[in-house]
Formats: sequence, C-alpha cells, structure tokens
Amino acid sequence: MSTAQTSTQNTTTVSAWAAPSAKAPLERTTIERRAVRPSDVLIDIKYAGICHSDIHQARDGWGEGIFPMVPGHEIAGVVSEVGSEVTKFAVGDRVGVGCMVDSCRECENCRAGLEQYCVRGNVGTYNALDHDGEPTYGGYSTHIVVDEAYTVRIPDGLALDVAAPLLCAGITTYSPLHRWQAGPGKKVAVVGLGGLGHMAVKIAHAMGAEVTVLSQSLRKKEDGLRLGADHYYATSDEATFEQLKGSFDLILSTVSAPLPLDRYLGLLRSEGAFVNVGAPEEPVSLNLFSVIGGGKTLAGSMIGGIRETQEMLDFCAEHGLGAEIELIDADRINEAYERVLASDVRYRFVIDASTV
Ligand SMILES: [Zn+2]
Ligand SMILES: [Zn+2]
Repeated sequence: MSTAQTSTQNTTTVSAWAAPSAKAPLERTTIERRAVRPSDVLIDIKYAGICHSDIHQARDGWGEGIFPMVPGHEIAGVVSEVGSEVTKFAVGDRVGVGCMVDSCRECENCRAGLEQYCVRGNVGTYNALDHDGEPTYGGYSTHIVVDEAYTVRIPDGLALDVAAPLLCAGITTYSPLHRWQAGPGKKVAVVGLGGLGHMAVKIAHAMGAEVTVLSQSLRKKEDGLRLGADHYYATSDEATFEQLKGSFDLILSTVSAPLPLDRYLGLLRSEGAFVNVGAPEEPVSLNLFSVIGGGKTLAGSMIGGIRETQEMLDFCAEHGLGAEIELIDADRINEAYERVLASDVRYRFVIDASTV
C-alpha cells in the first residue's frame, strides 16, 4: 500500500470521500478498512462510478442513512493482496465490486445465484452494516476489502474506467434483458436515456434485438442512434403512443419519474413485458385491464446476482461495450451530483481514484 495509509493490527486507514451527515456536501476524510481475512481480497480502487442512488442515499432520500457515508457501488480496481484461502483471484488481477459485498449464502435465493434477493437481506457495499456489525464504506476511496465470493473479474478487453459503471448500470439492465430474452427478432424499447438507459441500449443492441428509445424529447436522439438504437421517439409527442401501439415484446423502464403505465402497457404486443428498474418514490396507479387484455406482464428487476454479473462483464468484453463516461477528480464529486440531478451527464461520471 502507498504511504498514505497507516496500518494497525486489525484495520488500515485509507483516504475516502464521505458525506459527514445527510445532505451535507461530500468531503475528503479517512476511514478504516479491515485487515484481509482468509477469503478476502484487498483491492486498489482505480475508478468508481457515480450512480444516482449514491445521491439518494447520501441525501437520505431512501430513509435514514448511516453517516459518515462513503458512497460508491461501481468499483473497478486491481487486487493488491489476497487472503490465505482465496482461490479465484491473485495479486494483479483486474476486478470489480458492485452493489453488495455479502449475503447470507444459505437461503434459496443465495444458493440460486440470486444474492440480490437474499431473504435475509444482502449487505450493501455502503450504507449498510456488515455481518460483523461494522458499517460498510463504498468505492469513493483508495482501497476496499471484499470477500472474493462478492468480487468479479474484469476481462482484459475492458478498460477499467468504462467498466466501473457496468457493476451497477450494466448489470441492472443486462439482467432483465437476458431474463426476458432480448435478442434477434425481438423488439425492445428502453425508456429513458440516462446512466442505465444508455447501457440498456448498448446491451440490447449487442444481444441482437431491434431497439427503440422512448425519451421525453429528441434532445439525445443522435446519441441514442450512435449507441445502437434503431429508432428514437419522444414521449412528449402524443402521436408516439398511437404510432407505436402494440409494438414491443419488452419495454425496460429506467426512469424514476412516475409513468402513465396504462399508456406504456398499450405499447406492448400480446404477452409482452414491461419491466421497471427505475422506481418512483410514490405508488403508481394502474388499470388492471391494461395487463389482462393481451396477457401482459408488469415486472420489476433489481441489479443481478454475482454469477450473472460476471456473465454480463464477459458479454460486454466480448462485444466491446463500456459505459460512456466523464472522468472527474474527486474534488468535483459535489458538482457532479448537481449535474446528475439536472440530467446534465453523458452518461456516467466516474471518479479517478488516484485523486481521492
Ligand atoms: Zn447504482
Ligand atoms: Zn441469502
């Protein structure tokens, strides 16, 4: 480890950026990382993406958070130490960590590779209590210690900076696209072209589907087509909903604004599915005839399991897919948060961890 850290017997002090309290700006600080246990890897973080949910949590939008809070669950780095029982990784390996760092490992979901749905609750990468009762701290830091079972390999073909956002935005969109079989002959619509949406477009296109972006305006149309969309429509235009009625096998909504669900469900073919990965804070209303007629599915999806996250990274490497990023120094995190809230980012901010 570099000279910035001091080791004691059980913990190591490392640099990080934290929100000291809810809604306070993030500032540079130090945190303690645990000593490497037998099944742990120590990761030198190289890049960390800024996800919209970092902002929600740092600002207490999802209920009471644990402060100081070091956000960041889109982590890419290099293994610099391995525990005595580690078998998957060696020093020098390129690795990633996403939204969770542990789960119960015993329930039916964990055993099925659906750790994100662990019935006892998984351990979030930050803003959570680990099994030892200590708070977890995320990727806006120079180092992190994670059990190898919750660490994934970043294939050589993927640059670490554009790979970082795949650990949340990539898997969150890959998982439902895979589950609902986006592929040749399938018409897929992606609602919203932000951090999640732009990855959904790239991945669905690479899977072979015919991809349509449904965005509020045509402002990002050129980008959308460049990223792999075949068609691009504005949802602010009334004609869109008439024109596209009964068109899609799958609609993936990445927006957190409440949508007029009945209208969107009308865009599905019979037995098509509308899947939400973005969630509005308020309940939404729905006329159930919108799903009864046509035998349609209204579904949700949350990130993906560890095995599927590895599969997603391998898929992205094979197809040359990374996120579109704007690389920033850590002292611009607060400014980046404001820009994310203003939808002024194309399409993911990524923190250069050498500036943390
Ligand atoms: Zn995220
Ligand atoms: Zn479990």
